[in-house]
Amino acid sequence: MRYIPVIGLEIHAELQTASKVFCGCANEFGGAPNDRVCPRCSGLPGTLPVLNKNAVILAARAGIAVDGTVNNYSSFDRKNYFYPDLPKAYQITQFEHPISSGGFIEIGGRKLRIHHLHIEEDAGKLVHDDYECISMADYNRCGVPLIEIVTEPDFRTIEEVQQFVEQMALRLKYAGVCDARMEQGSMRVDVNISIMPEGSDVFGTRAEIKNLNSIKAIGRAIEYEIKRQSEILDAGGQVVQETRRFNDNHGDTKALRSKEEAHDYRYFPEPDIPPVFLSDEEIEEIRAQVPEMPNKRVERYIGEYGLTAEEAALIVSDREFSDFYDKSAAASGCYKKTASLMLVGLNKLLNENPTPVSELKFGTRELSELALLWEENKINSNSAMEILEIMYAHGGTPAEIAGKHGMIMSADSDAAEKAVDKVLAENAKAAQDYKAGNKKLFGFLMGRAIGELGKSANPAVIKEILNKKL
Ligand code: ADP
Ligand code: ZN
Ligand code: MG
Repeated sequence: MRYIPVIGLEIHAELQTASKVFCGCANEFGGAPNDRVCPRCSGLPGTLPVLNKNAVILAARAGIAVDGTVNNYSSFDRKNYFYPDLPKAYQITQFEHPISSGGFIEIGGRKLRIHHLHIEEDAGKLVHDDYECISMADYNRCGVPLIEIVTEPDFRTIEEVQQFVEQMALRLKYAGVCDARMEQGSMRVDVNISIMPEGSDVFGTRAEIKNLNSIKAIGRAIEYEIKRQSEILDAGGQVVQETRRFNDNHGDTKALRSKEEAHDYRYFPEPDIPPVFLSDEEIEEIRAQVPEMPNKRVERYIGEYGLTAEEAALIVSDREFSDFYDKSAAASGCYKKTASLMLVGLNKLLNENPTPVSELKFGTRELSELALLWEENKINSNSAMEILEIMYAHGGTPAEIAGKHGMIMSADSDAAEKAVDKVLAENAKAAQDYKAGNKKLFGFLMGRAIGELGKSANPAVIKEILNKKL
C-alpha cells in the first residue's frame, strides 16, 4: 500500500534576552554547571516570578516574523509535571491565551500554517555519567525564555519540513529573536507524524518524535517513521499514539511514553503572573523593530533587481550580508554587478578567511563605487575582482586602487590599433584561418590584443578595431 505522510511541528526556540524569563540570572550558553541559578529559577518555595518584558517583546516579534496576529491579551498557565530537570514540578507556559495566533510560511507555493506561538520557560539538563552510575542536574537552563511554535498538520514531504525549519530559523535570526543554533539546542524541533493511505483524507494516528537538533536528523527521523508506520499498517496492525526519541547513531526511533501513560498536566492559570496587555500602538511599535523578512527580500531581489532565484537565496541566507548588499546596491543602482562582486568575489574571500561583514576593511560605499566603475566600463571584470581583493586585504578606495595599478581602461584607440596590428602581424596564419571561416579564432586574437595592452585593455574598443581589420 502507498501512504501519504501527514506532519505537524512543534518548534522550541530560545529567546535572546539578557536575563532569564522570571528572574535576573544571565541567559547564556555554556559555563560551569549551576553557576547561573537563584532561588527563583531553582524553584525554591515562596519565591515569586517577575516576567521579563523583553521576552514578551521578542516573542511578539517572532509572531510578526511569521505573519501571525499578536494578541492584545495573553496570559500564563501552570503545566504540572514532575521531572528532575524541573525543580518547581511545574512549568510556566501559555495554554489558554498565547502571545500570537496564526501565521504561515510559504514553501514551494504551499502555505504551511502556524496554529499559534506561545512563551514558556525552559527546563534544566540532566547529565548522566554511565561510568560513575550517577545522574546530575544542571539548572543553568532552567527559566531560559522559550517560544514554542505549533504548526497545523500541513506538511506532506520531508523537504517541506526541512525547508520550513530552515526558513523559520532564518526569520527568527532576522528578527533578532533567537540565534537558532540547532547544534547548541537553541532551536529544537518535535515532529508529529502519521500516515494515511494514498487517496484518503482521514488522518492516521500520530507519533511524536522529540527534540530533533539538526535538519539532517529531522529528515532521517521522518524517513524512519514513515517506514515503521507503513510496515505496521501493511501487516494489519495499528499505530499507537506515543512519544518517541530519535537515536542519531542508529538512525531509528524508540518509544519513550505512550498516550495512555501521558500526563494529565492539570493546567490552571498561573496565579503569580498578571496577564499581559499589549495595545495596538505597542504592537505597532514592536512591528517597526522587525526588519523586512528574507522571503520578501527574495521577492524584491528577483522582481525589482533582476537577480536569479539562486543569487537572491544566497544573499538573504545571512542578514548582515544581505543588509550590506542592500545598502551598497541601493547606492550604486548596480544590482547585478554588486551581486557578482559579493557572491563571486567576496564570498570566495570570506570562505578562505571567515570575517563578519561588519569587520571588513571596506564599507558599502566602497563596494558601490567599485560596482559603478565596472558598470560604467571604466574597468573590466578581472580588474573589478582584483580591486575587491585589494580592498579586502588592505582597504582603500576603488578609484585610487584602479589608478595606481593602471586598471582604468583606455579609450585610446591609437594604442589599441597598434596592439591589434602587432597581433595580426605576429599571427598571420590565425588571421588567415579566421577569414577562411574558422570563427573561433576571433577570441584567440582578442585575447592576444588584450594581453598586449594589459589591465587598461578595453575589450569593446579592441573588438571593434579587430572586426574592422579582419
Ligand atoms: P495535542 O493537543 O494532543 O497536543 P495538537 O492538536 O496540539 O495535539 O497537535 C500537536 C501537533 O501535532 C501539532 O503540530 C499538529 O500539527 C500535529 N498533529 C495533529 N494531528 C496530527 C496527525 N494526525 N498527524 C500528524 N500530526 C498531527
Ligand atoms: Zn535565576
Ligand atoms: Mg499540543
